[in-house]
Amino acid sequence: MIKVFLLLGVLLGYYVDDPIYHTYSEVQEELDSLHSAYPEITLLDTIGFSERYGTPIIAFKISDNAGVPEAEPRVMFDGIHHAEEVLGLETIMATINDILERYSEGDTLIRKFVDELEIWFLPVLNPDGHNIVMGLTPDSAVRDTGWRKNARDNNLNGILDLDADGVDPNRNYDFNWAMGGDSVPSHYFYRGPNPFSEGETQAMKYFCERERFCALVNYHSPSYSIGEIVYYPWRWTTHIPALPPDFHIIDEVAGDMAAHIVNDNHNGHYLKTIGEAEVGNARNWQYGKLGIIALTIEICSRRCQVPPEEVPDITARNREGIYWLLSRALRSSFLLTVRDTFTDRPLSVQALVLEIDTTDTIPPPRETDPRTGSLARLLLPGTYTLELRKEGYLTKQIQFDITDDDLTRIDTYLVPENPPEPLVPYPVPSSGEVRVVLDLDEVSHVKADVYDVAGRRIRELLNGELGPGYAIVRWDGKNDRGEDAGSGVFFIRFRIRDRKKVAKTVRVKR
Ligand SMILES: [Zn+2]
Repeated sequence: MIKVFLLLGVLLGYYVDDPIYHTYSEVQEELDSLHSAYPEITLLDTIGFSERYGTPIIAFKISDNAGVPEAEPRVMFDGIHHAEEVLGLETIMATINDILERYSEGDTLIRKFVDELEIWFLPVLNPDGHNIVMGLTPDSAVRDTGWRKNARDNNLNGILDLDADGVDPNRNYDFNWAMGGDSVPSHYFYRGPNPFSEGETQAMKYFCERERFCALVNYHSPSYSIGEIVYYPWRWTTHIPALPPDFHIIDEVAGDMAAHIVNDNHNGHYLKTIGEAEVGNARNWQYGKLGIIALTIEICSRRCQVPPEEVPDITARNREGIYWLLSRALRSSFLLTVRDTFTDRPLSVQALVLEIDTTDTIPPPRETDPRTGSLARLLLPGTYTLELRKEGYLTKQIQFDITDDDLTRIDTYLVPENPPEPLVPYPVPSSGEVRVVLDLDEVSHVKADVYDVAGRRIRELLNGELGPGYAIVRWDGKNDRGEDAGSGVFFIRFRIRDRKKVAKTVRVKR
């Protein structure tokens, strides 16, 4: 049977054999060379490994200072959940190249995207399945250009059996998992032995939980369904309410995104369609567990692989949708950053928009990224109230406005229930800034100076009125001439009204 297909393939030629279509190793090579060409604004990141062959699953980031996570809205585009649905991969690779070319040409809009967003691409979530489509599996002769699933060895015989093996990755997520897909391993929609049983979906889980995207697109193509559709979450017929709390926002985003992708006939555009919630697919999990505005786009009107000459036009039209979504992340949305008021450290906190969220809704309260203290969220124009909650900290509410044409930046601090002990330097040892908390019961004259171990005064920090309440005295590690004071023991001498106190601190070079 396989031999007959192979023979037909040779005689007729598969579309995916045309060089315009990427193999998995070509994706790796191309991303490697793009990273070498643009090292400052790109990052290659292995987010996990495939279930059967341990193939690396690679994500590609484009942003200014790409090597570090920054407090910027994050948007993500992924392809090849389903192995045969290759047009998402091609759209992603074409878009990556377009962004980097236009960035180097100084394109204003692209520069804004790169500077103000973190843009992530995950071209091939399911590399083992994609290798089956391309005829490149380690088990050589096994090929199916219509393969959908990954390559899990369902019958544990050590052989790649296309009539028995594989899990449908887009039915393996832990959201209404048991209600979707199929429990029979040989089935086209086999959902796997348990939720997140697969390396591929574990990679997506890790990636989404780490990056907390404000919006993302899972690219598919119509292998059995209709195409040119933007699906969004959700209609949940067995649940009250049937529509999610952000419904009016997601509905608008999906509709506007669809309207920005011209259809294959060039006489209209893609259409939005509400998706069903009773499926353990990526979109439902991404929104239902993390609150990400997650869309699924079925690229192409009729099939998942097209004659090579049609590919550039299809990817160019879908690129316009990507650029629309990137623009949308920078308007009618907020970027929140939360830090500890004393230590200045970024905090992971629950951030509820009280007009939309309650604690017991699905999705659960969104949380800021512990690395940056940041969270971005798309809303509609209006006035809202944020409630920030974290155990050990005082709950805080903030009113803010969302406008149609701008990103609202909210930089704020949370106060711990038990502030650090006054007049004790933090942190010790320090390689950066040293902070000392003062707790003043009235307006007080405060003088603070730094002395080295030899008793020389090297820096005046403060000489003035402070209080009442908490205040923070900061030392950046420099002397009065602006030079680095170096490593070692230092003393910060305080005079608060007529009370004297010395605080010892230790600085170490990074
Ligand atoms: Zn699909």
